[in-house]
Amino acid sequence: MSGRIYYDFHIHSCLSPCGAADMTVNNIVNMAVVKGLDAIALTDHNSSKNCPAFLAAAKEAGIKALSGMEITTMEEVHAVCLFKSLDNTMAFDSYVYDLLPDIKNRPEIFGDQILVDEKDQEIGRVDKLLLNAVPISFYDLSDLMEQFGGIYFPAHIDRPSFSLLSNLGFFPSDCPMSAFEIKDISNYESILSKNPDILGVPSLINSDAHYLWDISEPVNVLHGKIYDLLKDWLQYTQS
Ligand SMILES: [Zn+2]
Ligand SMILES: [Zn+2]
Repeated sequence: MSGRIYYDFHIHSCLSPCGAADMTVNNIVNMAVVKGLDAIALTDHNSSKNCPAFLAAAKEAGIKALSGMEITTMEEVHAVCLFKSLDNTMAFDSYVYDLLPDIKNRPEIFGDQILVDEKDQEIGRVDKLLLNAVPISFYDLSDLMEQFGGIYFPAHIDRPSFSLLSNLGFFPSDCPMSAFEIKDISNYESILSKNPDILGVPSLINSDAHYLWDISEPVNVLHGKIYDLLKDWLQYTQS
């Protein structure tokens, strides 16, 4: 694999209750292709159940893709997990679903949690509400990702809610993470001045798209340590 890789590694599908109904796997993949992205990841809240369809659709469209999840830790910190393979992903998905509080989704309040196949046909709905915190600590993610064959990074650390800095209040220096995600790179200097430990940790800029038009434009290039880490995991190569 060579050349620049324009990426967007934080995208929600119609499985996330807050994701738009037209965030089907083919719509996501085709929008990414139209925009000129090279690599994308599907990262629904606390679930990877649309990843099999997503990877199949990505393969069909000839775009590189990773399967993942945006987990809500017990500290209500959002962290994006990306996996080596679909098997690794679905093993982690089962692990998380078992731990997720047994509280049913109320679609009229939170939105639908729609499962689709690789043709975008609805194949079911997820019962448990996917927005609750999972009883897994942010501090456990490093070991868990080692165990399940994935990497993780704290999501949108410059957001005032559901982020590492808003909820823990600091960047834990004893927490080995592969990267961190920042929404607006112009916030980097002020975050660095209060959290010198982020120095040297790769940054990623993703869309966190819940709507098709939010998916990133081809502006963020995968580079450095995070490129080395992910290059062999990207499932499909453009022909
Ligand atoms: Zn989030
Ligand atoms: Zn998100």
